[in-house]
Amino acid sequence: MHKFAIACIFLFSLGLMGQTDQRIYDIMNKVSAERIKKDVTTLVNFGTRHTLSDTISNTRGIGAARRWIKSEFDVISNNCNNCLEVSYQRNLVKKEESNRIPKDVWIVNVMAIQRGTKYPDRYIIMSGDIDSRVSDANNYTSDSPGANDNASGMAGTIEAARVLSNYKFENSIIYLGLSGEEQGLYGGQGLAKYAKENGWDIIGIFNNDMIGNIRGVDGIISNTDFRIFSEPVPPTETERERNMRRFYGGEVDGISRQLARYVYKNVKTYMPEMNPMMIYRLDRFGRGGHHRPFNDLGYAAIRIMEAHENYTQQHQDIRVENGIAYGDVLEHVNFDYAKKLTSVNAINLASLAWAPPAPKEVSIGGIVEPSAKFQWSKVPGAIGYKIYWRDTTSPTWDHSRYVGDVSEFTLEGVVLDNFFFGVSAVGKDGFESVVVFPNAILR
Ligand SMILES: [Zn+2]
Repeated sequence: MHKFAIACIFLFSLGLMGQTDQRIYDIMNKVSAERIKKDVTTLVNFGTRHTLSDTISNTRGIGAARRWIKSEFDVISNNCNNCLEVSYQRNLVKKEESNRIPKDVWIVNVMAIQRGTKYPDRYIIMSGDIDSRVSDANNYTSDSPGANDNASGMAGTIEAARVLSNYKFENSIIYLGLSGEEQGLYGGQGLAKYAKENGWDIIGIFNNDMIGNIRGVDGIISNTDFRIFSEPVPPTETERERNMRRFYGGEVDGISRQLARYVYKNVKTYMPEMNPMMIYRLDRFGRGGHHRPFNDLGYAAIRIMEAHENYTQQHQDIRVENGIAYGDVLEHVNFDYAKKLTSVNAINLASLAWAPPAPKEVSIGGIVEPSAKFQWSKVPGAIGYKIYWRDTTSPTWDHSRYVGDVSEFTLEGVVLDNFFFGVSAVGKDGFESVVVFPNAILR
């Protein structure tokens, strides 16, 4: 081959390995604040979406809300040649189960699956919540607009479906409306159990809960800060895995944390104006969200949400008290910000849905040697692999090296003890899997 041609191919592959893909910018630009506003307004106008509220009326209550969400997914599907499989997923919860379930109730989730062309049974999931509440968690009749908590997350999920349904992906994407959140995470529990029973191979879940408030109770106003919550390691790990960590590390490198790092990096690349905050905890102090039931069953799941909450606008009866207007009403939602966080989801859903699977097994070695050694199981669809590493005190993967289509590599002169490492798979368009922390030792 001519030298110039070789150089061209080299530069071309560098481009592929390189930073950005135009389609991701297109996806970002197609997300509409106006449509999110319209959908949040529609959800608010159902009066209450409390899990135990009316299910018969077509204008008020959770029944009307979930039927509207399903019909909205159906409309999107009609516009993309039936590219979405839209359905309800139901779970009966009996009144004895908790003091927030005063009567037997069907917890009904709405699910829309955009089937992947190459890996139809691997899923990346975005979720929001259907239900809302006021001061008394069991008050299912009072007006409960839940504009930010969590019509914002639900509307963002619907909007992501609208935008991404214009594209074809290798992996499947699921857009999910979960119910029963405020009564005790019942919708997520039901759906996670359903996923487990059906053997779903889940890449990860982006749970969106409150993505529209920019004026914090802390006085800070920011339309660029947002939080990514991720637990350190899965609660399902074995005693042996826990013991291994003492000797080989991994205390802050569980699968949900890797998913959080993936989102962080992608946002820094495509939306550098945003300020993602990696929060090293499952959720806010003592509080919950719908990613947790998925974590409970060993799935990678993170919570994406605003950085500065306002507690006078969450779970509150609508009222004015001491000059403060309480209530989660439409006026407090910033739709440009909700659009940005929806874009955060959409670009990461797309990137992962276009990426090959992550290597299953990654081994690491090099004890008392000057170089770190790696071996991994190859995955179909990958054109190469990337080794990542970072200082042990760094939250993010700061160094990387693309090593091509091999299944082992030695990083000469990099001492094992001083860094943490991981390996990702790279697809032909440059999209990468989540980084896998080594799960075996090379002797
Ligand atoms: Zn809530």
